[in-house]
Amino acid sequence: MVAQASLGTVHLVGAGPGDPDLLTVRAHRLLSTCDALVYDALVPTQLLALPSPDCHKVFVGKRRGHHSIPQQSTNKMLARLAHTHKTIVRLKGGDPFVFGRGAEEATYLHGLGIPVQVTPGITAGIAVPAYIGLPVTHREAGSSITFVTGHELVDKGRQRVDWQALATATDTMVIYMGIHSLAAIVAQLLAGGLDAATPAAAIQQGTTALQKHVIGPIAALPQLVRESGLQAPAIVVVGHVVDQRIPACAPPLPNVDMPIPLSGPTTAARRS
Ligand code: SAH
Repeated sequence: MVAQASLGTVHLVGAGPGDPDLLTVRAHRLLSTCDALVYDALVPTQLLALPSPDCHKVFVGKRRGHHSIPQQSTNKMLARLAHTHKTIVRLKGGDPFVFGRGAEEATYLHGLGIPVQVTPGITAGIAVPAYIGLPVTHREAGSSITFVTGHELVDKGRQRVDWQALATATDTMVIYMGIHSLAAIVAQLLAGGLDAATPAAAIQQGTTALQKHVIGPIAALPQLVRESGLQAPAIVVVGHVVDQRIPACAPPLPNVDMPIPLSGPTTAARRS
């Protein structure tokens, strides 16, 4: 058995939502110095050029016509790399601990005695709205905010998110992975007492050159999304903060896009 001291450290690193400028300084330093890099979809391709050419790079995301590598295989691969490499970066879109399975990987590695550290990233739920000038809190319009996944609705045959309860429990709702189930989510929110006129926005591939958004009353949002052809990955924001938008403060979009996962419930967007 390899002595503890000889094990490499696995860094769970947030890549930010797309614009490479939104990488943290710490993430930049780790990417520039790592000797192994494990990454999946929703990671800006430009960041993959930061490590040295002899860095061992492994893609564990979805490829056209294939499923993504099961989580358990990724866990095992990270553990193996810790025995052969010194600084392993596990790069994840946005923040590793926000709907990113970062905690599952950290728990697994820690359980094996492998050093693991997290480097937070800028999560899509905050940055993507900001890139259309939309604040997710506001003294007048949003004192509470809920980050919620829309994936669970179709994923497990059971429902973990109580949408009807959420409808009146929070000022701002930021929905990740919600685009495919949007009609069902909105129906439940309305059934739970959400005002049909509540302003809402859906933003696809935010902070990249392919950013696109629609805005309208929540009851109309599914139709607006359908008509505009807006696709995953997208963030949906529901709440009166949407009326507080200051479009002029949105940063210019970078001339970059991101690899889009090619199958699965969050991945309708396909490149031709
Ligand atoms: N850990 C990530 C979230 C992973 S879940 C984070 O902190 O941001 C993947 C979902 O995030 C996508 O389905 C989409 O809802 C959202 N997402 C990630 N990047 C996005 C982007 N650039 N634009 C819009 N939505 C994005």
